[in-house]
Amino acid sequence: MNESEGVAICSAKGCRAPAVWAVVWNNPKLHTADREKIWTACDEHRQSLADYLSARSFLKRVEPLTR
Ligand SMILES: [Zn+2]
Repeated sequence: MNESEGVAICSAKGCRAPAVWAVVWNNPKLHTADREKIWTACDEHRQSLADYLSARSFLKRVEPLTR
């Protein structure tokens, strides 16, 4: 995880909602296979962020953001 301390905010552009999901992805052209990038997402944007990554075959999984 590479979020700063405090409440995680949704990664969607312009969204300031608290994040409750971790969208885990990896771009094999940029990252080694074991590297995991995380976008945080609110309920509203979880699907659109996952779909964006899924369409590019970057999506690994979506998991609840626990802290
Ligand atoms: Zn959002």
